[in-house]
Amino acid sequence: MKSETLTLYNTLSGKKELFEIPRRPVKLFVCGPTVYDKSHIGHARTYIFFDVFVRYLKHIGASVYYLQNITDIDDKIIRRADEMRMDARALALMFTKQHIADMKRIGVKSVTRYAPATHEIKTIVKQVQTLIEKGYAYQIEGDGWYFDVSKFAEYGKLSHRTAVSAEDSVSRIDEGVNKKNRADFCIWKFKREGEPSWRAPFGEGRPGWHIEDTSISEKYFGPQYGLHGGGLDLKFPHHEAEIAQQEAASGKKPFVKIWMHVGMLTVKGEKMAKSVGNFITIEDFLKKHSAQTLRWIVLTHHYRSPLDYTDTLAKEAVSALQTIEEFIAKTSLLKRADTMTAITERIHEASDTFHAALQDDVNTPEALAAIFSLINDLNTKIFTLGKTDGREIARWIKGSLGILGIFITLPRLPFRVKRLAKQRELFRIHKQFIQADEMRTQMDALGYTVEDTPLGPLVLRKM
Ligand SMILES: [Zn+2]
Repeated sequence: MKSETLTLYNTLSGKKELFEIPRRPVKLFVCGPTVYDKSHIGHARTYIFFDVFVRYLKHIGASVYYLQNITDIDDKIIRRADEMRMDARALALMFTKQHIADMKRIGVKSVTRYAPATHEIKTIVKQVQTLIEKGYAYQIEGDGWYFDVSKFAEYGKLSHRTAVSAEDSVSRIDEGVNKKNRADFCIWKFKREGEPSWRAPFGEGRPGWHIEDTSISEKYFGPQYGLHGGGLDLKFPHHEAEIAQQEAASGKKPFVKIWMHVGMLTVKGEKMAKSVGNFITIEDFLKKHSAQTLRWIVLTHHYRSPLDYTDTLAKEAVSALQTIEEFIAKTSLLKRADTMTAITERIHEASDTFHAALQDDVNTPEALAAIFSLINDLNTKIFTLGKTDGREIARWIKGSLGILGIFITLPRLPFRVKRLAKQRELFRIHKQFIQADEMRTQMDALGYTVEDTPLGPLVLRKM
């Protein structure tokens, strides 16, 4: 493996940088969801990408500690709980469970630890205390403690900005009325009637959003670590605030070496919103499509590019996955004993292209293109190849897709389908085409297609 050539685009430096795999575990923190609602396919895009990234890091020999916080105490949660006449903590717990279940359903299995903020209050209180003691925070009577960005000279170094303009699509800004600077943000909100709160030496209350992440990452990773990821909308002000807090608290920089941001997902050209009617939860998506389809859609777009979801994309994904399954099925029909040495070379070539693409800032669309290019090259002459060739090709394709978390398995044909296929073949050989077609219709009704090849019938399940 050529792990020494992995490059990653770093938002902080604005360029691709060499990422050397450390001997100790790679520490990756990715911002988790704010659990006031079900997770949608935009969340899925970010988490599928980082799942693939971690799978790839492991494939090239790294060990990875992948930490994800869960914002389970926040204004949005409290507001939603009020609307639903529910207890805020019960609501957050319900959506936390759903999020973790959704992640399992979409094959995101690489997270080492989910850290809900409410389980880490002690840690958060400690970091707020440090910022107060070091003079980075001030109190607004009856409101809370705020981080003073004017005390942190480098505020804005990630996003190259310090203020938000009205047209920005960024995640929430704290709108305290008596703030010293417009960009100051709340790190601790004082207790209000009916809201969850925790005791602290600087006043009973609850944590602000940004402070949750840095307190949690400091506890598990220390004040400095390698990789931090999240959706592009979190770059400013959320990640900018994280840098300010952690570098102010520890006095050490850089807080994080490489910042990775996943592009936004829109649906039919618009930002997902319930009011627009284009909001697709992971749960809803999976009612119509498979998790593989979703993963395929994510991986056919470069992670830093925008992704506009349409039904056409889902259809294209199904068709691509079907092409691969069909091709693998064809290789299983091969019987000839002789092999072609050229095949091994062609696989090596595809493999080099596949890995070079992933090494180049995790370019998954190009990696998938390498697989498709091999399939296209071989599809026309597949039935002239030998059994060993077929096995080698299938093993490489399945293995490569497996690195990306896509698993192609040929279905075991039900007995009825096998029998129909056999009967149909007999009718066909005896040129009894009407009867043969009748068998095909019956197979079709059971969800299977049959294609005649030079090596006999190829039975496939319809996707
Ligand atoms: Zn975060």
